[in-house]
Amino acid sequence: MSEGPAIHFFTDVMGRVNQVPQEMGGSCVQCGNCCMNKRCMFLQAIDDGRFQCGIYHSLLRRFSNCGSFPLNAYDIERYECPSYFVIQVMPASPESRRR
Ligand code: SF4
Repeated sequence: MSEGPAIHFFTDVMGRVNQVPQEMGGSCVQCGNCCMNKRCMFLQAIDDGRFQCGIYHSLLRRFSNCGSFPLNAYDIERYECPSYFVIQVMPASPESRRR
């Protein structure tokens, strides 16, 4: 727990809440990267090289902070998540508002 969720909280979540993007795309493909690079003791291998969390529905996971992934682009890059991506929201230019 200290290597995964705790580090994730103290390095990625705490103090970075203002960096949470408004829009994020993708969906979990269960690669296991964000689960301590597939080394989490609760991770279970399933079919096609995918993984699932063995405590997904338990109270323990709720306190693990794992559900906060991915929080931002840094988070996605850190775990080399193959699916999630930040959608850049561009402010409308004055020209586009006149149309
Ligand atoms: S790194 Fe991304 S795709 Fe892989 S298990 Fe985590 S959320 Fe899912």
